[in-house]
Amino acid sequence: MESSSLGKILKKILIIGAGWSGLSAATEATKRGLQVTLVEAKKELGGRARSVTLNGLTLDNGQHILIGAYRATLDLISSVGLQPESLLFRQTLSLKNKEDIGFSLVGSQWLSPSMRFLIGTLKSTNWTLKDRYTLISLAATWSLNHFTCEANKSVQDLCEGLSDQVIDSFITPLCLSAFNSPIGMTSGQVFLRVLQDALLSGSGSSDFLIPRCDLDALFPQACEKWLVQQGCIIKKGVRIENLQDLQAQFGAIIVACDPTNAARLIDGVNPKWSEVTRQLEHTQIATTYIRCKDTGYKGLHKPLLMLASDAGNSGQVNSPAQFVFDRGYLFKDNPDSLQARANQGILSFVSSYATLTNSQITLAVLDQARKELGLSDLEVLGTILERRAAFCCKPGLTRPANLASEKVWVCGDYVKGPYPSTLEGAVLSGQEVVGNLINSLR
Ligand SMILES: Cc1cc2nc3c(=O)[nH]c(=O)nc-3n(C[C@H](O)[C@H](O)[C@H](O)COP(=O)(O)OP(=O)(O)OC[C@H]3O[C@@H](n4cnc5c(N)ncnc54)[C@H](O)[C@@H]3O)c2cc1C
Repeated sequence: MESSSLGKILKKILIIGAGWSGLSAATEATKRGLQVTLVEAKKELGGRARSVTLNGLTLDNGQHILIGAYRATLDLISSVGLQPESLLFRQTLSLKNKEDIGFSLVGSQWLSPSMRFLIGTLKSTNWTLKDRYTLISLAATWSLNHFTCEANKSVQDLCEGLSDQVIDSFITPLCLSAFNSPIGMTSGQVFLRVLQDALLSGSGSSDFLIPRCDLDALFPQACEKWLVQQGCIIKKGVRIENLQDLQAQFGAIIVACDPTNAARLIDGVNPKWSEVTRQLEHTQIATTYIRCKDTGYKGLHKPLLMLASDAGNSGQVNSPAQFVFDRGYLFKDNPDSLQARANQGILSFVSSYATLTNSQITLAVLDQARKELGLSDLEVLGTILERRAAFCCKPGLTRPANLASEKVWVCGDYVKGPYPSTLEGAVLSGQEVVGNLINSLR
């Protein structure tokens, strides 16, 4: 009797936080036979990657973009019964502006991304011959070194020898979009890892995958339904304040909160863990939603275009947005015709590494929309500024481990792992923590 009731308690786990890492952990644990209780402080699941209501419209808490190399994320979305290929718009990696100027991979989809990178670089006529040669030889050196470097090297260190033109039009936008930090503040090691996955893990791995639906519909909603069907208990709108009493009720606890809340909860269990977590720095991302009401406006010619941003450079920022997404284009074939109509004419502007206030960003982005896209009749729906959008993946950074005490485990995009602050990082962390937890129970 005693051993069977102990067995039951061991199988019961509590997951605190239902962002993508908590949902990933809950799905993995359920698949592996554990009884999961999932508790989320907000009324909706999805954490930083969820839908929000703004001006009566359903929009995203932040415009997100995935890449083909996000294998764990794409598999997870499929595993709850969705078809990621129908929910995501696939676009060749392209950093082109409205005039079609900028870097892009070139060549048939069947060619490897590294071959398409080589052709794209050779055909980049806005770079000098020397620029192209230096970039190709640098990339070859990274590849020969198996995309590894010393932990204390920054992306800036790795790019020594590249011209300002290549850095400003290629490396900086890549760094800001994947890491949300400028090249001098970004870990060279993690940058090379992402680059390796994007260039060397098969055809399509470097493609941009842009949601054609709200973030809730991309995964959290279907995941919730799947978990409930499998017997998982989900409590929404419940904030856990401390872990004391809970440790006796569950075989293990997985803290899947953002770093600030995780550090607060784990303080009483392992103050050293919390100290490491509190040392992480964070950067902002702003998403500005604007509706274009110009007569005759038919949308952008691509769902994602690059803008001429000065964010990430030293000095005053006048043009904070790096990318603009055309939600009208992305949602036009959405099976929910109301959603398709509601998104008509809506552009979302992403200002990574934003250092301005909400209203400064809105005004500056309006100016960019007018100057760079030539639009005039614009209605601002709002700017969502996430102050702690991403942890700063600095060179030599020590990230917290996924074990805080015998019974308390942790997952999240910031926990030790191969990826920066991304959906893939969150999903991988959720899966890894469950694997380690199960091994420890054995
Ligand atoms: C604006 C923005 C744009 C982004 N763009 C991209 C992108 O383009 N591509 C990409 O890959 N990634 C992007 N990211 C990063 C990505 O969203 C995150 O890496 C990922 O969502 C983190 O998931 P998580 O589960 O680790 O944390 P979170 O999403 O922060 O989830 C933590 C959850 O824990 C809950 N919680 C906290 N405390 C408690 C408590 N005490 N009790 C109960 N629940 C609690 C929170 O409410 C939250 O739901 C972006 C992020 C932002 C903010």
